[in-house]
Amino acid sequence: MYRRRRLAVVTASIIVVIGVVAGATALISSLNSRADAAPASEVASTPSPTPTPTPLSPVEQILAGANDPLACAVSFEGQGIADAPMLQWQNAVYTPLPIPTQEGQVFAGWYATPEAATALDAAARINGADLVACTEQQNVLHVAWMTPDENAAVDAQIPILMYHQFTSRPEGEDGWLRGNYAYIGDFDAQMNHIATTGFYLPTWDELSAFIDGRLYLPNHSVVITDDDADQSWFDLAVPVIEKYQVLSTSFMITAARQDPAPSPFVQRRSHTHNMHQAGANGQGQMVNLSAEEIAADLNTSGDILGVREVVAYPYGHYNDTAKQGVAMAGYEMARTIEPGYVSIGTDKFALPVVRINYGMGLEALINQIADAMVRRQIFFERLVRSARRCEAEFFFQPRIRQHRTVPEERHLLGAVHGHSQHPSCAQRRRQECGGDRQHRLAEPSRDLGYGDPTITCDVEDSRWAVGRRPHHGRRDIIDPHEHEEGV
Ligand SMILES: [Zn+2]
Repeated sequence: MYRRRRLAVVTASIIVVIGVVAGATALISSLNSRADAAPASEVASTPSPTPTPTPLSPVEQILAGANDPLACAVSFEGQGIADAPMLQWQNAVYTPLPIPTQEGQVFAGWYATPEAATALDAAARINGADLVACTEQQNVLHVAWMTPDENAAVDAQIPILMYHQFTSRPEGEDGWLRGNYAYIGDFDAQMNHIATTGFYLPTWDELSAFIDGRLYLPNHSVVITDDDADQSWFDLAVPVIEKYQVLSTSFMITAARQDPAPSPFVQRRSHTHNMHQAGANGQGQMVNLSAEEIAADLNTSGDILGVREVVAYPYGHYNDTAKQGVAMAGYEMARTIEPGYVSIGTDKFALPVVRINYGMGLEALINQIADAMVRRQIFFERLVRSARRCEAEFFFQPRIRQHRTVPEERHLLGAVHGHSQHPSCAQRRRQECGGDRQHRLAEPSRDLGYGDPTITCDVEDSRWAVGRRPHHGRRDIIDPHEHEEGV
């Protein structure tokens, strides 16, 4: 890393080159033009005057076949839709709904009304996170479409939250796993926020289609997961999940426990059958076993759970062999513990996460799962604040000079450059202070999205250190969190 060779501290002006923050609002508004939804009654309305039995409509056939007052025939309507009605159950969450395709279009969801479909109203979008609500055992869902360009312009970044254990002690648990134990009061506030602020909760098949570019997800989406199915998950967290009716995923180590889903809002998925342990090299079994052995374990787990779809790598350990084993067992996706957000084109066998640790309250969660545009704003506010700190400490002169995007690294939106403005430089040639050299000091990482900017006030040439304040070392990293006050 070149940064490590750059040791001394820059003094001078900083130019904050900010990436494009503006674009997406206009694009979002253009999405409202899509979605067709011309309701058309499917139910035969005129009974035959003859005693000859009328053939049953598909909806009637479904209901007759189910012969259960809780059965619900769900029909699908709108442009390009040929899906047959399907059987669902009143007051259960929807079983997987069709993900239709149409040439040159991206599926933008099922909606309760044609108007909601036209408006892409996320609050009225229906999926496996919702309870089936039927009238007279029937229900019609309305399709929405958008173009691939419109979908790409949304540039949705989906957080997958990762929780572990829970505690009812506000002061947290002791011991080396302290960070893993979320305080249940924080969890309650966080789930309340997700439930009441219009978040869309995608199912895993939707997330997969989203990554393919086949399905639109709004930026205001979030996936809630818990690892290990600890007893505290059942005792403390699941009642909260139930209370707010937010869809979640419990990654279970099926060799350890195989409890049935404790709530309709808890999806059981695999955290492997028996690979949640260290192998020969001290790392997880996922990076010790052969692809065939991994696949055999995951097949056992998938059979127990009755679903494959996605696995969470124990300890987040994986490599290409692990990915191969996951694919061999018929899983479509795998979740790591690497920080980041899921976007179109994300590696399905290396889904990143937003880890929630003890001490992260509601505000921390809000910042982490805010829409990408908001996170960008937060990022740059911190960046500028840190740059000002550099100014105070190192005589930098931060400036926001221009907006910039870097297409090949969509998340690289800004960088800080510096050259010396230290008074003593006025008596020197500019080059001696690095005056004409712009040096990138900070950049948002692609994987971290717009998480936490870290500004490194450093240079490779000791001549640049002319303005360094004596209490700093030759290299200094400024953590924006430490300097949010009074800058
Ligand atoms: Zn685990």
